[in-house]
Amino acid sequence: MAVDATQPYDDQNVFAKILRGEIPNRTVYEDDFALAFHDINPQAPTHVLVIPKGSYVCWDDFSARASDAEITGFVRAVGKVARDMGLVAPGYRLLANTGLDAHQEVPHLHVHLFAGRPLGPMLAR
Ligand code: AMP
Repeated sequence: MAVDATQPYDDQNVFAKILRGEIPNRTVYEDDFALAFHDINPQAPTHVLVIPKGSYVCWDDFSARASDAEITGFVRAVGKVARDMGLVAPGYRLLANTGLDAHQEVPHLHVHLFAGRPLGPMLAR
């Protein structure tokens, strides 16, 4: 079910539980600002989610409230994950669903990183 991106942060969301170590994940990368792990239902040969460690509902919340250090750290982590996975030359796609029309399902900011095959047009037609 899609979530309203304007709601307050819910610390019982699945990614909050992953950050607290309450449910497992297949970690790709972790630093002070970000955690990257494989999506449980991959939509491409490589489908990794990168999330900030702070409690942010979505891109809107993060871009408005996060500190400069958190934003820098998160953006650098997304780039590093892709680079370390060897995805720059073949190419990759980033996606951050925000709110109802984008069908955001988990109310903790996450950037999808898709790669591993030609990904086709940006949106389904
Ligand atoms: P979105 O629609 O942008 O909110 O995407 C949520 C993503 O989280 C989906 O691609 C799900 O497959 C993924 N997901 C949900 N639960 C888990 C989990 N426990 N571990 C890894 N990925 C998950």
